[in-house]
Amino acid sequence: MKAMVLEEITDLQKNNEPLVLKEMPEPVPGEKEILLRISSCGVCHTELDEIEGRTPPPQLPIILGHQVVGQVVDKGRSASKFQNGDRVGIAWIFSACGICQFCQEGNENLCPDFRATGRDANGGYAEYMTVPEDYAFPIPSVISDLEAAPLLCAGAIGYRSMRLTSLKDGQNLGLTGFGASGHLVLMMARKKYPNSRAFVFARNPEERAFAEELGAVWSGDTDEASPEKLAAVIDTTPVWKPVVEALKNLQPGGRLVINAIRKKDTDKQELLKIDYPTHLWLEKEIKSVANVAREDVSECLKLAAQIPLKPEVQIFQLEQANQALLELHHSKIRGAKVLKIR
Ligand SMILES: [Zn+2]
Ligand SMILES: [Zn+2]
Repeated sequence: MKAMVLEEITDLQKNNEPLVLKEMPEPVPGEKEILLRISSCGVCHTELDEIEGRTPPPQLPIILGHQVVGQVVDKGRSASKFQNGDRVGIAWIFSACGICQFCQEGNENLCPDFRATGRDANGGYAEYMTVPEDYAFPIPSVISDLEAAPLLCAGAIGYRSMRLTSLKDGQNLGLTGFGASGHLVLMMARKKYPNSRAFVFARNPEERAFAEELGAVWSGDTDEASPEKLAAVIDTTPVWKPVVEALKNLQPGGRLVINAIRKKDTDKQELLKIDYPTHLWLEKEIKSVANVAREDVSECLKLAAQIPLKPEVQIFQLEQANQALLELHHSKIRGAKVLKIR
């Protein structure tokens, strides 16, 4: 099979072909695994972090890609969940131990043995892949293969952030940052909390206008005060200023959920502006989001089918994976980038 393979950690400033096209043996499913013929795979910022070593694959070479859609074409002896021909998706969670305290409590995303698709196991930048059947998700029929891919990462982690707010229907929700995952969250929140009002903070006026088109009742710049206090805010920015500004807009007992793997150090001095009575007093909380659990992926797909949520996608061929990654690296974002593999 054809695959785009990462052979070494590299610097994208100097190397614009980090992945190499290779002919590889088709993988064979283990006992409880399924073999997928891949139709599409989303391209994600996390791949840039893997390539440049910020979240390095423990073993190289590796096939990247963790938003994979395909058809079941074979299975191991004890695999019984799916039939050949079923359409399934694979997300960032490739497997977890199932027995530790975190797994037992439904927080398998925090499992010390958490394995990530396309980092700890071969992922979807290829024609075929195998996965434990318990970590594959049926794709609802109203969503196409290409549209499903971004839902498996930005959608699922957005869903988890929304769940971690503990918002109740009718309470005010704030979103700070309004990129790809922000707009998926807004659309999901409008469906899940129909009586809640959404307030969006973004630097870019076009993003603010887009937020209002999608149903936000108010939009403003990152440092503005919202006209009403907020029960929860979800932050999807890479920096610190929006964190401090969001805290000021929370109501007593409100929660800020930070959906970012890493924050940049460039504006870290903003944190010194935290004023205890303004930003933290009255039981305000801050929580980060790490990885996804299976429940997030399956609930996100269900909700997406009800809306229906159809992300805008920009299509690349498998062989163009480097180009897609570089465009992402240079922030040329026009819809979610997806490799169309067959
Ligand atoms: Zn991702
Ligand atoms: Zn575990």
